[in-house]
Amino acid sequence: MQDRINNIDWLITTACESTLCPFCYSADDMDMFAYKLPLSEAMEICKEIKNKDIEYVTLFGGEPLLYPYIEDVVDRLHNDGVKTILNSGFISKKSIFDFIDKLFMVGLPIEGTLKETISQLRGQIAFDKAIEILEYLRNNPTDIKIKASTVLNKINISETEEIYKILKLYEDLIDGWRIYEFTNQGRGRKNCEKLSLAESEFDEKMLELSYIAEQEKPKFQIIGRSAEETDAYCLQMTPDGRFFKSSVKLDSPQLVNATIYDDASKIKKHYNIEINEKQKGWRKDL
Ligand code: SF4
Repeated sequence: MQDRINNIDWLITTACESTLCPFCYSADDMDMFAYKLPLSEAMEICKEIKNKDIEYVTLFGGEPLLYPYIEDVVDRLHNDGVKTILNSGFISKKSIFDFIDKLFMVGLPIEGTLKETISQLRGQIAFDKAIEILEYLRNNPTDIKIKASTVLNKINISETEEIYKILKLYEDLIDGWRIYEFTNQGRGRKNCEKLSLAESEFDEKMLELSYIAEQEKPKFQIIGRSAEETDAYCLQMTPDGRFFKSSVKLDSPQLVNATIYDDASKIKKHYNIEINEKQKGWRKDL
């Protein structure tokens, strides 16, 4: 189908109780989309996703586990055959283990290995939760895919080899390690000086890591995304189904003239679908 959308990113809630992510591109910037999405409306959006035959939906936030109906949404998407990806920071009482078997993929943020680094980047609870999930999956094998993720910045750039070593311990479970160059969006704008990498530092680090990968052939892919490549390529949707763009080139996220209830062709014309598919395409090899 020519006008089919392959994937969307659904900002299911802007709520988040963590203050420990100085790079958070969502905090502050996306508060303008704050909305307590009722269950009935969430189900309507799920219906549209199914009708449009969208293959992948990434649930992000804020903290998606704080959305009170997260389990209902995951359940519905799963039953509709939609591959659902959860990007969480795990700062919530809601346990992912209640519905992990219905997810296609879960993102596990791992920002560092040293206590001092972890305490500055997401915090110990998030790190421990990521390891707990890996241990759980080791003992309870499922088909779920795991994407480890790291926001590369001035604080953790010297720890990539150590992060790699931790991931290598779980290589049978991990499918990809996504390394994002820090971008000055959201809360990151205030912390730019502390976090921004010097020019070419990101590319050099990715080269180093690809050299290690060539030698050691880990079972997971290592995929980088530079700040430049993070330019409004995601089809991002507000809790109530309006599409928007966020980019380092924009002062704040901007709504586009399309909602989930519109034709796929109308939605797609606001985005660079070629870049979108290239960036999301690594999942196809899994
Ligand atoms: S990165 Fe995620 S967990 Fe951290 S503050 Fe932002 S929304 Fe919350």
